[in-house]
Amino acid sequence: MKEFAERRIVYNLRCLKFLIMKNSIQLFMMGMVLLSVNFHSTLFAQNVKLKALIIDGENNHGIWPKTTMMMKDFLEETGMFEVDINRTAYTWQGPHFDPSIGLEDIKELLTMYPLQNGQETTAVDKSKPDPDYSPDFSKYDVVINNFGWLASTWPEATKKNFEEYMAKGGGLVIVHAADNSWGDWEEYNKMIGIGGWGGRNAESGTYAHLNDEGELILDKPEGGCGSHGPQYEYTIETRDADHLIMKGIPAKWLHAKDELYERLCGPAENMTILATAYADEEKNSPPWNKNMKGTGMHEPVLFTIDYGKGRIFHTILGHMGYSMECVGFMTTFLRGAEWAATGKVTQKIPDDFPGPDEVSIRKWDK
Ligand code: ZN
Repeated sequence: MKEFAERRIVYNLRCLKFLIMKNSIQLFMMGMVLLSVNFHSTLFAQNVKLKALIIDGENNHGIWPKTTMMMKDFLEETGMFEVDINRTAYTWQGPHFDPSIGLEDIKELLTMYPLQNGQETTAVDKSKPDPDYSPDFSKYDVVINNFGWLASTWPEATKKNFEEYMAKGGGLVIVHAADNSWGDWEEYNKMIGIGGWGGRNAESGTYAHLNDEGELILDKPEGGCGSHGPQYEYTIETRDADHLIMKGIPAKWLHAKDELYERLCGPAENMTILATAYADEEKNSPPWNKNMKGTGMHEPVLFTIDYGKGRIFHTILGHMGYSMECVGFMTTFLRGAEWAATGKVTQKIPDDFPGPDEVSIRKWDK
């Protein structure tokens, strides 16, 4: 009986071994199938990168040839975007010169960060319209605007093409001084929600900011449209934690040295405020006019706008290269660009995202 029981055990063990082996082979085969599906979907994903277009050429922030390359690099590093640049034939880098970048002539940036697409451009000392500027927006999932203050008006047909592209479901990212451009272009003002300078005034619409209670205040622009204090590190506060762009971003984080735009005004329609920063009356008082105070309001720094079927992500951050080296800038810019392109956000929040008390910088020295 004992012998029989032992044989039974041996037999059962053999069966078990066989079953394990059989299951292992099945599991192995299944794994191979899954791997190959995954491999193919990765290949597929690689084949269908999102197409992004950075537009630039005229911006009072003379650093723009570098910041365009920084943003191109950030986008490409995700492996999700394929990036083209379309530049106006005449380039202008503005009246201000920041000696902190260590160059004798700001135009050196154009040769330090050359276009790789063979496009020839001519640097001019005063912004000058390019009558042939006509990017084919329809080829792209998202357009990133790195124009700035005093950018020349686009040809009428180009404006119409862009309006149509956006209304039909295009994507747009407005970076910092891009909201200074084209104050007299009505449809553009609708796309950006609110903007500053560029001829904007009390007729352009309202301010749009939050009071201490978090209520949206759409007041009349009585102190002009657009101002900012000296550059400093400031705290950014999430206002819409459930928005796809903001999911997982801390409630408060410290942004690297940058300008805090305030008094932006415009139609302010179909706008969703994602994050704000507090414009302290003293700290955000413009250095060029000490009689002018900060608004004492929580100013929108990240927001979205719906324009027809189009999606716009607007970030007021990014005054200089060092402002864009902030991991908070990079992360929100990249998530905003993906959302503008697709309506979804799949990127993770990086481990080095800034906390409430300390900035987080990734140096970009390419
Ligand atoms: Zn600026």
